[in-house]
Amino acid sequence: MTARIIDGKSIAQAIHGELRAEVAALRARGIVPGLATVLVGDNPASHKYVSMKRKSCAEIGIESFHCELPATATQQEVLDLVQRLGANPRVHGILVQLPLPKHVDERLVLDAVPLHKDVDGFHPLNIGALAMKGRTPDFVPCTPAGCIELLDRSGTSIAGADAVVVGRSNIVGMPVALLLTGRDATVTICHSRTKDLPAAVRRADIVVAAIGRAHFVKGDWIKPGAVVIDVGTNVIDDPAKPGGKKLVGDVDFDAAAKVAGAITPVPGGVGPMTIAMLMRNTVRGASR
Ligand code: NAP
Repeated sequence: MTARIIDGKSIAQAIHGELRAEVAALRARGIVPGLATVLVGDNPASHKYVSMKRKSCAEIGIESFHCELPATATQQEVLDLVQRLGANPRVHGILVQLPLPKHVDERLVLDAVPLHKDVDGFHPLNIGALAMKGRTPDFVPCTPAGCIELLDRSGTSIAGADAVVVGRSNIVGMPVALLLTGRDATVTICHSRTKDLPAAVRRADIVVAAIGRAHFVKGDWIKPGAVVIDVGTNVIDDPAKPGGKKLVGDVDFDAAAKVAGAITPVPGGVGPMTIAMLMRNTVRGASR
């Protein structure tokens, strides 16, 4: 294996340490950063994600306001809760854990999060500001911000690099592409209709894979020395593991690591950074 491993877990820990110091300074001024988590229904993965986020809040000194509603909650009940949190001055950020139950309109709920508490950064005005020269969004979406932080803290130079982003979703692919463009990379966005994906990826100095398909990006698509950021989280069968399952990324890690200059593992790459960026957004919200 030739690639350097970009260790998202330890980079996230370092960021948590920096935030702990910022929170201590805010608390000394009588400001206690607060993050509200809204969980609707009983999706086990959502429960796990929210509990990880609350654990990080506790570690850093952020007050967490956890709100749970049953899967039978009405659209209005979810909206009322988000509006109450929006009006609570102790809450600086509101995180609505997705997905919501099918009968609840996700868009209406996310639109009800006030812009200055949109720590997920999904509000169209935040994404719009990201796309415009000279504008700064109040909050940058957490996973995309985590990808950029991994590049920066691993010493990857972004300006002038050829970057290929595979995936164009609102929450990962598109904002990553906008952030890379803002940092002067030359960005190609690929998706399910891209004609020759391997050829596009082969041109990239930086590859960001956000597809949602296990081991989809092959080792021989990677340009020697490229930096690979694997956002994918896919559960596949593995009889050797205790639960018979394991988590893998969108990139064929073993093959890509033989060619790439640096690569993020899954788990332990982008995942911990998403939480670190959520914490950072909350602290920034409180500082304002
Ligand atoms: P998504 O909304 O399903 O978007 C997937 C994107 O991949 C789409 O743009 C799609 O293209 C593209 N795509 C699908 N099949 C393709 C193909 N055969 N060739 C090229 N492109 C293809 O997924 P997402 O929400 O962005 O998430 C992507 C992955 O990241 C998932 O595994 C998710 O679990 C993971 N994720 C991880 C974190 C984290 O913190 N680690 C956070 C968020 C997401 P079209 O637009 O043409 O359909």
